[in-house]
Amino acid sequence: MSETTRTDEAVRRGPRVVVVTGAGTGIGQETAWAFAAQDPDVRVVAVGRRAEPLARPAGRAPDRIVPLAADVTSPDGPEAVVRGALERFGRLDVLVNNAGIAPHGQLGDYTREGVEAVLATNLTAPVLLGQAALPALTESRGVIVNVSTAVGQRGWPTNSVYAAGKAAVDTLTRSWAVELAPRGIRVVAVAPGAIATPIGRHAGFSPERQAAVRRWQLENTPLGRIGEPAEVAWAIVQLASPQASFVTGVVLPVDGGAVVG
Ligand code: NAD
Repeated sequence: MSETTRTDEAVRRGPRVVVVTGAGTGIGQETAWAFAAQDPDVRVVAVGRRAEPLARPAGRAPDRIVPLAADVTSPDGPEAVVRGALERFGRLDVLVNNAGIAPHGQLGDYTREGVEAVLATNLTAPVLLGQAALPALTESRGVIVNVSTAVGQRGWPTNSVYAAGKAAVDTLTRSWAVELAPRGIRVVAVAPGAIATPIGRHAGFSPERQAAVRRWQLENTPLGRIGEPAEVAWAIVQLASPQASFVTGVVLPVDGGAVVG
């Protein structure tokens, strides 16, 4: 089958079902909206721990975005997310592993619990979500989009475990791209640089630390500004689209040049 035919077939397949984790705020919220805005036939399952923030993306397109309250680190969280999507829509085409946390930490003040919490959300949950979604993605010849970070490629002094967990997500992306290619599943990642979201506030950063992080980010961003969540959402939607049918295993920086600067 030629690539053109394969793409045409994927496009003809009709409505696609997308799961976005961490969709109540920031990049996830914009991503849920961007998928819904791009295609009237797409259906988005917006996943987050609390129902209230999920009402924001769902409220923008109630016929296309449905909220699903689930903690992706809970024992049955990954299965509940996939089950919820299948019960509602009967299929799953795209899994966006976006939920993440970035609490401050450096060697000398880490605790076992702190390290495990970062990795549980940023690394273990994407693995178990990918696994729970595997049968449905095999059936749909679907796509996994992991949300990594530019500092996964550079390191982040004062947040080394976060950077290391995300570097592992890059490695998962490349490994799964090869492992799942025989099933027709594509696996890609975006690696955002400094993006204007509440992630620092969610991590409990003090105003001083938030300002210091912003200074460091701006000094290390050749385009000289902080990015918008919509700029990352755009890249996620493009990589997940059926037209990107020959793209797999890529970790795409969306970072104003940070990794090359
Ligand atoms: P954010 O804090 O606004 O979004 C993260 C979302 O994940 C939140 O809504 C949070 O409630 C949710 N979440 C956290 N733990 C969860 C759990 N256990 N179950 C379900 N949902 C959970 O921040 P953001 O910047 O939009 O982050 C989105 C992703 O982008 C993260 O993976 C983050 O590491 C990554 N990222 C962000 C930046 C940036 O500068 N903002 C840069 C690089 C990478």
